[in-house]
Formats: sequence, structure tokens, C-alpha cells
Amino acid sequence: MQGKIVKGIAGFYYVHVVGSGVYECKAKGAFRKEKRKPLVGDNVEIDILDEEEKTGNITEIHRRKNELIRPAVANIDQALVVFAVTKPKPHLNLLDRFLVMMECKEIPVVLCFNKKDLSEDREWKKLQSIYETCGYPTIFSSAAKEENIDMVRQALHGKTTVLAGPSGVGKSSLINLLHPEAGMETGDISRKIERGKHTTRHSELFPLDEYSYIMDTPGFSSLYVNDFEKEDLKMYFREFEPYEGECRFQGCSHIHEPGCRVKEALEAGKIPESRYKNYLEMYKELEEKRRY
Ligand code: GDP
Ligand code: ZN
Repeated sequence: MQGKIVKGIAGFYYVHVVGSGVYECKAKGAFRKEKRKPLVGDNVEIDILDEEEKTGNITEIHRRKNELIRPAVANIDQALVVFAVTKPKPHLNLLDRFLVMMECKEIPVVLCFNKKDLSEDREWKKLQSIYETCGYPTIFSSAAKEENIDMVRQALHGKTTVLAGPSGVGKSSLINLLHPEAGMETGDISRKIERGKHTTRHSELFPLDEYSYIMDTPGFSSLYVNDFEKEDLKMYFREFEPYEGECRFQGCSHIHEPGCRVKEALEAGKIPESRYKNYLEMYKELEEKRRY
């Protein structure tokens, strides 16, 4: 039977099988000798040991589409990044770093700016213009007023999503709105999503519905841009792309070269200033790193 690992604790893996619930499994079989460790998010085959007790053995791990290290999770379809439009004001440098990491790992991102109800039009429209220019799907929601929650639900449907964002922006409020209390399977998986600040957090996927999973990630603490060279950074700013090929010099860093079309686009207001500023900052950091 096929299922998906939603949690792993102390050698046990909790495997969600659509329509049947969650089985507590051990990893047995050939793949153990190959030293392949099951990850949360893995699609696996299980042999059921006891249907009553909901126990089984994992016999096979299906090929992974991708794999993140922190949080440790496999087969991510996308990331949902939540910031508040205001209160707290969005830290765009942090956001752009996150976007770079996701571009690097080729994981699509959906942006959600919450607390729209507290924002003035110019605030959210500014954010919209920055991130839509870059081609990111961007949702402006209000968990308090239950505005545009359906758009978030739609964006998550049928996918495995990692949720990221600083605290206090409304992530729990959004998830609680999305998580249907009724119609869930029985078992530990149907309990309300707990985001206790004092409990140890394991990587855990929560089913939002039968085919949609979400994983909460503990903030942005583990985000740093370092596993590529500074020359590669520009590839992860997708709004540079239409201009890049036109620069006078091949391999233009878009910083000090003459005839740089990216800088011209910046001056013409076609590339958002905050994005370019954060590009420069990250570029300098990568340059520093190389000197060590
Ligand atoms: P988290 O730390 O990102 O999970 O944020 P929470 O969901 O705990 O929300 C932090 C605070 O913001 C709480 O007091 C929420 O009631 C409030 N909040 C969440 N969403 C909204 C919103 O859309 N509008 C307003 N005005 N407040 C919100
Ligand atoms: Zn250039």
C-alpha cells in the first residue's frame, strides 16, 4: 500500500494512507542496507502488520523529487511564504534571501501578505508591484476578516507545501482557517495544528485535505545564502532575466560594468529598487565568504 511519511520520531515513521489513516511504521527491508534513511515527505510502500493497531513496515521508498535539509523533508512542491503587509512591517531582505534559496533549489514560491485589513492601499500595492514584477504569485489576505482565504486554499490544493515566515504575521491564524475540523480522518492526524512555542518541533506534515499537505517551518533562522558562487546569484533574481542577455559584457555582474541593461532597467523603474539593493548585499556577502 502506498502512503506518505508525515512524521518521524525515534525510529518510527507515521505514514498517511489516503482513505485509511495513519500507520506507525518501522523501516525494514532492502533500502536500509543501502543506508537510505526515510524522510518526512517520502512516498513509501508499506506492509500492514496490524490493521487494528495501525502498524506496518516501510518496504520501499519511492524516488524523491527533491529534498530539503532544514527542515528535513522530501518531495516539496512549493513554499508558501507569509509576511504581514504591516505590523510587523515585512523584512524584504529576509524575504529576498528566502526567494533566492528557493530559486536555487527550484522550488516554486507562493507569497502571501497577510493583515491586509491593517494596511493602507499604497502599502500593499507597493508590495504587489515589487513581487508581481518578479513573477511571483502573490496573495493579499486577512485572516482576521477572512479575506482571500480561498485563494490561499486554492494555491495549496493538491500540493505538499512548506510554510515559512516570521512569527506574528498570522501563519497560525491562516492555517486554522484552512484546516477543516470536520470530515478529517480519525487518529492523531486530525487534531488541531499545534504550534506551541515551547514544545520541540519535529518535521511534520499536516494534511489540509486528502491530497494537500503543509509543513510548518521554524522561522527563517536557518537561512543563509552560501551554497553557490556570487556569479550565480543573478540567476536567482528572475526579474533580471529579460535584460541579462543584452548587457554589453558577457558574464556581467550588473554592478559596475558599462552597458549594463539590468542597471538601465533599474533606472527605468522596471526592476524594483529593493530587489536590486538586496542583490547587491547578498553579492557582497558571497564575495566576503570567498576570501576566507
Ligand atoms: P504567527 O506567529 O505567524 O503564527 O501569527 P499568529 O497567527 O499567531 O498571529 C499573530 C497575531 O496577529 C495574533 O494576535 C492574530 O490574531 C493577529 N492576526 C493574524 N492575522 C491577522 C489579520 O489578518 N489581521 C489582523 N488585524 N490581525 C491578524
Ligand atoms: Zn549587466
